[in-house]
Amino acid sequence: IKKIGVLTSGGDAPGMNAAVAGVIRAANAKGIEVYGIRDGYKGLINGWFEKVDIDFAQEILTRGGTRLGSARLPEFKEESVRQIGVDNLKKAGIEALVVCGGDGSYMGAQRLTEMGINCVGLPGTIDNDIVSSDYTIGFDTALNTIIEAIDRIRDTMQSHNRAAVVEVMGNHCGDLALYAGTTTGCEVISTSESKLTEEEICEQVKVLAKKGKRSVIVLVTENLYDSNALAKKVEEKSGYVTRATILGHTQRGGIPTGMDRYLAVTSAIYAVDQLAAGKGGVYVGLDGNKLVARDINSTLNMPRKDKSQELSTIRLLNSQFKK
Ligand code: ADP
Repeated sequence: IKKIGVLTSGGDAPGMNAAVAGVIRAANAKGIEVYGIRDGYKGLINGWFEKVDIDFAQEILTRGGTRLGSARLPEFKEESVRQIGVDNLKKAGIEALVVCGGDGSYMGAQRLTEMGINCVGLPGTIDNDIVSSDYTIGFDTALNTIIEAIDRIRDTMQSHNRAAVVEVMGNHCGDLALYAGTTTGCEVISTSESKLTEEEICEQVKVLAKKGKRSVIVLVTENLYDSNALAKKVEEKSGYVTRATILGHTQRGGIPTGMDRYLAVTSAIYAVDQLAAGKGGVYVGLDGNKLVARDINSTLNMPRKDKSQELSTIRLLNSQFKK
C-alpha cells in the first residue's frame, strides 16, 4: 500500500488532530504517503485532498478541534454519492482510509469498504458512546472541561447558598455526567441510563435544603429536560435560588489531555497497521488496556457496553442524602 487518506467526521472532539498526526507518523514510518481529506465525507465527494507530512503532524498534534475539518453529509447514505467519493480516491491513487468519528461515520466507512476502499475507524467523540470501546478520543478532555466548570460553579453556589442545574453533553450516553458528577461531588445526577423524574430531583434537593446543605448541584445529561425550566421547579420546591448552566460547545473544544492524545496516537498507529495488513471494515477500540480491531458490521447493532457498575454508582450517589 502506497497512499492512504485520513478524515475526521461527525461531531468534532479534542484529540482528532492527534489521531491525524498519529496516522501521518505511522504511515511515514512505513513509507506510505498520507492525504488529508477536508470536512469528512463532504471533502471526499468534492475531491478536497491535500498531501500532509510530518511538519503538518507536528503543527496539529497538540491542538483542539480538527484541522482537517469535519462535516455531516446525510447524502453519503446513497450509493451513487459514495461512488463519486470512491472515484475521486481512485483518481488520486488513494487506496485506503482512516476515518475518525462516531458510529455514523463508521457506517460510511463500512459502506466504502464494501465498495473497494478499505477503511478503518477511530473512536473520535466526546460522548464515549462507541459500542465496546472503553474510552473514546475526546472524552477525557471534555470530562476535564466539565470538571473545571462544575468546580467553578460550586464556588459561587457555595458562596451564595444556592442550587445549580448543570447540563452536559453525552446524548444517549451518560458517561460525561456520571464521571464528572462522581469526581465533583454533585448531589443529584441524572443520565439517560438512569433518568430521574423532575419530581424526584426536586424532592432530593428539598431534602438537602431541609438539612441545611449550603449548595447543591444537579447534573443532567442533555436532551432529558428543559434545564432552565427544571431550575425554576427546583427553586420553587426547594427554596434555593437556582440557576441553570448549559455547558454546550465549551465541552467540544480545548487542548486535548494527555490521555486523549495517547489514545489518539496509539489507536492511529494501530489503524495504519490494519490498513497495511490489507484489512478494512473494522474500527479500533480500547478493551481493557489493549487496542483491538472490531468488525464494524458485527458490532454496530451490539447492545451498549455493560453499565451495571456505573448505574450502581449513580444510584449510590443519588441516595446518599436521602432522609
Ligand atoms: P458520528 O460519526 O459522530 O456518529 P453522524 O451520525 O452525523 O456522526 O455521521 C457522520 C456522517 O457519517 C454522516 O453525516 C454521513 O455522512 C455518514 N453516515 C452516517 N450514517 C451513514 C450510513 N448509514 N451510511 C453511509 N454513511 C453514513
